[in-house]
Amino acid sequence: MRFNPKARLDRSRIRDVGRGGGGGGMSGPGMRLPIPGGGIGGGIGGVILLVLIFVLAQCAGLDLTSLGGGGTSASSVYDPSRISSAGGDTGRYDNCLTGEDANNSADCARVAVENSLTDFWSKELGSKFHPEAGVVTFTGNTSTGCGGATADVGPFYCPVDETIYLDTTFYEDVLQGPLRGPKGAFVEPYVLAHEYGHHIQNLLGTMSRVKTQQGPDSDSVRLELQADCYAGIWAKNATTTEDASGQVLILDLTQDDINTAIAAAQSVGDDRIQQETQGKVDEESWTHGSAAEREGWFTVGYKSGSLDKCDTWAPAHVDDIPQV
Ligand SMILES: [Zn+2]
Repeated sequence: MRFNPKARLDRSRIRDVGRGGGGGGMSGPGMRLPIPGGGIGGGIGGVILLVLIFVLAQCAGLDLTSLGGGGTSASSVYDPSRISSAGGDTGRYDNCLTGEDANNSADCARVAVENSLTDFWSKELGSKFHPEAGVVTFTGNTSTGCGGATADVGPFYCPVDETIYLDTTFYEDVLQGPLRGPKGAFVEPYVLAHEYGHHIQNLLGTMSRVKTQQGPDSDSVRLELQADCYAGIWAKNATTTEDASGQVLILDLTQDDINTAIAAAQSVGDDRIQQETQGKVDEESWTHGSAAEREGWFTVGYKSGSLDKCDTWAPAHVDDIPQV
C-alpha cells in the first residue's frame, strides 16, 4: 500500500488518549462492555482470558445495542460531549500532515486509512452518511460510551458514541501473539475497515436486525460477516477514492496487501480462535463466523464492490457464499 505523498491528511476525527485515559467506569446509559470482572492474570489462563475478552469486546457493538433496551437506536442517544470523557489528546497524530507522513509512519497511516474510509463511504451513501465521531487510540484502559475498555481488548466500534476504539498494542500482543495472525502493513487497514463497516451498519439501521447472538447462522455472525464484506468493498475502491480536493489518497494496493487482509480475517475466525485457545471448535458459540466464511465474505465485497452483494442475511446458511 502506498499513499499519495502530496495528499493532505485530515486529523480532525482521530486522537490518542494515552495511558489510562479516565479509568474503567463510564456514565453511559446503563451500557457496559460484557467484559468479565477482575484483573487479568498471567500465564496461559491469562492469554485465554485475554482472547476471550477480545472476542467478547468485538461483539460489543451488537450486545450493546440489545442491552440498551426498548429498541432505542444507538444514534438517537449519541451525545458528542460524552466523547470528551475519554480524556485528552496526547498529540500522537500532530505530525501527520500528508500522505508522505503516512508512508513513513504507522500512526499517520492510521489517519490516512480513516480518511480514505470516510471519503469512500461518504460518496457511497450520500445523504445517509455522516462520519464516525472518532477513532480513539489508547493504552491500558479508557472509558467509552459503551463502558470501560481495558488493554488487550480488541478493536471495537461503540454505536452509542459512534467511535472506534483501538489499543494499538493489540496487533503484536494478541493478533500476532496467541492468534498467530499475519504481520504486514495491510492488517490494520483491514481491521479499521471492518470496524468502519459497523459504523455503516449503524447508519443503515442494520444493527437492529440482530436478535440471535450466538450460533453458526446467528444474526451476530451475519452482522460480523457483513462488516468484513464492507471492508472488502472499501479495499476494491480505495485506489480510486478521491478526497475533497480531488486527490486520490491511496495510490496502490498490491495482491500481497489483499492476501494480508484475508489472512487477518481468517485469524479472527471463530473456529480458528477456538482451536488456538480451547483446542476444540464449538459452532454453537460462534459470534463472528469461521475463518473460511470471513475470507469468503471479504472476497465477495472485494470482487463485487456492491452493498447489495453483501446481504449476509439472504442465504439460509452463511457458508453459502454468493458467486461474484
Ligand atoms: Zn466486528
